[in-house]
Amino acid sequence: MSAIPAALITDLAQLLLGILLGAHLLFLLYPCISLGGRCPFPSLSRPKAKPKVPVSVNYHFTRRCNKTCGFCFHTATTSHIEDLPQQKHALRLLAAAGMRKINFAGGEPFLYPKVLGAMIDYCKTDLGLESVSIVTNGSLIKEAFLRRHAGKLDILAVSCDSFDEPTNTAIGRGAGDQVTRLYQIAAWCREYGILFKLNTVVNKLNAAEDMNAHIAALRPFRWKCFQVLIVRGENDSEETLRNGHKFTISDGEFDGFCARHAGQACLVPEPNRLMAKSYLILDEYLRFLDRTGKQPSRPILEVGVESALESVYWDEDAFVERGGLYDWAKPEGEKGGCAGGEDLDW
Ligand code: SF4
Repeated sequence: MSAIPAALITDLAQLLLGILLGAHLLFLLYPCISLGGRCPFPSLSRPKAKPKVPVSVNYHFTRRCNKTCGFCFHTATTSHIEDLPQQKHALRLLAAAGMRKINFAGGEPFLYPKVLGAMIDYCKTDLGLESVSIVTNGSLIKEAFLRRHAGKLDILAVSCDSFDEPTNTAIGRGAGDQVTRLYQIAAWCREYGILFKLNTVVNKLNAAEDMNAHIAALRPFRWKCFQVLIVRGENDSEETLRNGHKFTISDGEFDGFCARHAGQACLVPEPNRLMAKSYLILDEYLRFLDRTGKQPSRPILEVGVESALESVYWDEDAFVERGGLYDWAKPEGEKGGCAGGEDLDW
């Protein structure tokens, strides 16, 4: 009998080893297949979920406001505001977790101009964020503030729902001088190199208004038009501070308003479908809000950003769909929008 070559023995041994390993793996994964995917070895069956990144954060650091808009969906349920060092600590954690853009909102942020100014400077100078913005009703803005912080502030968004003062008053936002102030703020923004943005809540009282002439004159770089939104626990009944139901409009009425202003290149319509869950909101206690109305997260100073984010729902896909990643810092040489063109001066 001739001797079996050593090479053949090695090949056979490797083949046997391969069969044994394969059978062992099949044994391990069998429950994953037979139990409808409920694998007892999750690390084998699915890749670890990527941590969520808070790329763009809306920080509503106060709920207090000097206006009483009937449809307000972030109402003054508390007057709490964190100390400035705590807020800076939270901002630092957010930046370390991937925040690139912050928007300071309220309530009315200009009720606390010193805190607001300090946070703006800190976000731009110390944290180096790409975009720093404020949303305000405009009534308390002083020129000196814009002059002092202009280099640190990318975007100033001012809310204006009507160019008819009695309508503003009926909404709860007006004092008879809303439109005059708006033109003044737009001029200051141009003077100090801050992008001027306009926010309008389309509702029962303004849905039929034609704003084209004013938008063309004001030339905001973006004009966001929101469909009035009902948020549970904020403006959804007579039990809440506001009851927005008397201001709601149909999708068709909202579409009609947008169609009437379709010639404005800066128009960015935001129907409820996109708006409701796509904003990542940090509240006055430094907690993320759950966008389905469930419990907010624990404060990020207690549990960290990643854990807080994991505990709430926020629709990242809708954030991208509504252009959240576009709405950014001062665009270099952007030609689009109402303010685009030859004399783009920011
Ligand atoms: S909508 Fe804005 S301006 Fe109006 S009450 Fe609410 S926070 Fe204040």
